[in-house]
Amino acid sequence: MSGSICGGVAFEWRRIGMCWTEGKRRRFYVSQSSLWYSPTWVCLGCGDSWSDGERGERPFYRNWRADAIAKAKRDWAAVSRTPAETLEAIHAELTVIA
Ligand SMILES: [Zn+2]
Repeated sequence: MSGSICGGVAFEWRRIGMCWTEGKRRRFYVSQSSLWYSPTWVCLGCGDSWSDGERGERPFYRNWRADAIAKAKRDWAAVSRTPAETLEAIHAELTVIA
């Protein structure tokens, strides 16, 4: 499947990495709206997000972390492409650009 872009996310994948906030190994939902923008990493452990090495803004309301974590877990679970399919999709887009 190619060309299915929903919610402005062109590419998404799952990563395990060290959370910059918690200093622990965590699952991350990583998404990229296009190849021209840096991917955004969202930690499933604390809900913080990062792009370009900078932490995303934290919402100004109580319990935002619970919401952010729940959303990250839903997004993680909804990743439908395998890593190989994601690479294929990126390659297809690069081919179009070239
Ligand atoms: Zn975290």
